[in-house]
Amino acid sequence: MITGGAGFIGSHVVRLFVNTYSSYLVVNADALTYAGNLENLKDVEKAANYRFEKADITDAAAIEALFEKYAFDAVIHLAAESHVDRSIIDPLAFVKTNVLGTVNLLNIARRYWANSETKMEGKRFMHVSTDEVYGSLGEEGFFTEETAYDPRSPYSASKASSDHFVMAWYHTYKLPVVMSNCSNNYGSYHFPEKLIPLMINNIVNNKSLPVYGKGENVRDWLFVEDHARAIDVIFHNGRTGEKYNVGGFNEWKNIDLVHLLCKIMDAKLGRPEGTSAKLITYVTDRPGHDMRYAIDASKLNRELGWKPSLQFEEGLEKTVDWYLQNGDWIKHVTSGDYQHYYQEQYAKR
Ligand code: NAD
Repeated sequence: MITGGAGFIGSHVVRLFVNTYSSYLVVNADALTYAGNLENLKDVEKAANYRFEKADITDAAAIEALFEKYAFDAVIHLAAESHVDRSIIDPLAFVKTNVLGTVNLLNIARRYWANSETKMEGKRFMHVSTDEVYGSLGEEGFFTEETAYDPRSPYSASKASSDHFVMAWYHTYKLPVVMSNCSNNYGSYHFPEKLIPLMINNIVNNKSLPVYGKGENVRDWLFVEDHARAIDVIFHNGRTGEKYNVGGFNEWKNIDLVHLLCKIMDAKLGRPEGTSAKLITYVTDRPGHDMRYAIDASKLNRELGWKPSLQFEEGLEKTVDWYLQNGDWIKHVTSGDYQHYYQEQYAKR
């Protein structure tokens, strides 16, 4: 079971697993919130080893029924409320899904597996988390797996809490868990409220490009398909009870990133250089905006041989090309039409 498989990262993980592991039955369990979009998986929806189940991870009966139906050997857990700005407006929604939903999954997986013939043997619960649990850095230093948690936003606090529960289930109940903490992802199928797709979409439509504060905040960026590969490697080969940081070794100030995007977009759209940058507008900073995240992903490289496959400029060009070639996808998401896809493709069956 892959939870949150209709979201941005989840859809890349589902695609990778469906296409790579024909002997696995991949069940995508997703509640289809505003962030879940089955159009992200059009290319694999008819694959023999893929199923979609509309299910809310906070609903114990629904998740139990899925365990009964499929007898899962493994869970890769990505379902979450994921947008920091939304967490500032409605923190309880984040507590509900990210904390209670995760504990619900842990509880059911433990009960189900403890009662199975093979007990915990050969089972795996992988939890996908964020580097934001570590808090904010100054100009120097990196987050390692030993960095103490220091979350600052309701989003990161809820993810930090879920991480602790996952490790508690390992220590207390011997649930075979493994966990990853990744930096900011970018790439195709990213909901256009997030920085990179938002900027691309606004540049195309000649709308202003809102940049928080002075744009000085620094983030590490990783191509989403590289994150999906990291999840694959950690899921299969990571040591049980361990956590692995995942990052791009690729730090950018927000404002520099927006300027780079403007330059790429001017070239792609055949506009004189500097045209898009004129759209940049500085807006009031996000409250409690963490200054810098930087992740040390050397453990993952050392133990499991993973490293990012793409240079940032190359990944960004690929991403821009995808958005320019998939105008319909953006149109459906921004108009809300994507939410009818489930009704049309699945609910009638
Ligand atoms: P997303 O918001 O694009 O997708 C989340 C998915 O979860 C959606 O399909 C949504 O419908 C589903 N969902 C939400 N609440 C649910 C519930 N109660 N029950 C079942 N499904 C539910 O998120 P994303 O960016 O793809 O992130 C996926 C995971 O990776 C999250 O756990 C996030 O914390 C983590 N992560 C994200 C990033 C990033 O840069 N986006 C970086 C590191 C870690």
